[in-house]
Amino acid sequence: MSDASFLQALSVSKTYPGERVAGVKQISLNIQPQQITAIIGESGSGKSTLLRLLYGLLSPDEGRVYFKGERIWGPEEKLIPGHDAMKMVTQDTDGLNLFAKVWDNVAVLLPNTDVAAKRQRTEDVLRQLNIHKLADKQAFFLSGGEKQRVAIARALATRPEVLLLDEPFNQVDTSFREGLQQDIRQIVHDTGLTVIMVSHDPAEVLSMADELIVLKDGEVIEAGHPKALYQNPQNLYTARLLTNCNVLTREEAAQCGIDASSAEVVIYPEWANPTSSWTRKDWMVKQVLFKGNHEDLLVTKGDITLRLLNDEADRYKVGDKVHIKINKYLEF
Ligand code: ADP
Ligand code: MG
Repeated sequence: MSDASFLQALSVSKTYPGERVAGVKQISLNIQPQQITAIIGESGSGKSTLLRLLYGLLSPDEGRVYFKGERIWGPEEKLIPGHDAMKMVTQDTDGLNLFAKVWDNVAVLLPNTDVAAKRQRTEDVLRQLNIHKLADKQAFFLSGGEKQRVAIARALATRPEVLLLDEPFNQVDTSFREGLQQDIRQIVHDTGLTVIMVSHDPAEVLSMADELIVLKDGEVIEAGHPKALYQNPQNLYTARLLTNCNVLTREEAAQCGIDASSAEVVIYPEWANPTSSWTRKDWMVKQVLFKGNHEDLLVTKGDITLRLLNDEADRYKVGDKVHIKINKYLEF
């Protein structure tokens, strides 16, 4: 569903006073409903600032934010900051009452006017977040990941239309993180929730987001579907955010057999294959990094080192001479 007027920023700027000009500049965007939009960018690129502007925790210096055609008011203009139809979850789970049970942490946010409805809603939300088995546990005894689930359950209890997530999974271990990401996708699918998340973890944004917005120095430099941005980024910055890619100068690329016309050439680790069957083996395996389900090979020729992905475990060892076949590259 395409809807230009769900959540819209129109030329929004916010600068912080200080030695260096910082903040976000002239950002215009349309957040589509009922899907996951991820905002990525290096540290200090303005991700949190943009999220706070969309929520109404910050007032823009210029420009406006609209939710369903109505202007979002900043903290100076509204008694309780933050739009009523939105909820935000960050890394800190300060909102939790550590002395209360998980159940009560969620239930306390719901009105007492209909006790049966309150009970049902609490139960439903705990199930959605897969923490119903923890209902009677005191929040104090939960792991970081479990606390984060309770924080999200609390945010969803009152059925917000938009959930804003500011790097909430940072403190959560990888194994736990993936389950939480899947559950959030499921909730979006089942309930039509709109999620806007900030992250700098490529694996997370690529697997979770329907739409990616790339921020650099406070400006949106590109946006699109994760697969499209990954396969065909318009900026070297984007490629670097999304993958651990090889960046070569034009001269270095020439030594790899690439006749480039731009200054920089990017080769993703999966775009080049080693082979030992060729007669011309002018690369040498410098390191083999075991990654569980694959290996990263560092191969060298002269001053050039390339990182390659190899899914045939134990095929190559340090010191092996190989031929490298480059299947795809990008120029910037
Ligand atoms: P990100 O979330 O991408 O790391 P932020 O939006 O937090 O970036 O910050 C963007 C820039 O604005 C950074 O350079 C940061 O130091 C600066 N900044 C953020 N908040 C403030 C503030 N309250 N006062 C001054 N500078 C700030
Ligand atoms: Mg931030």
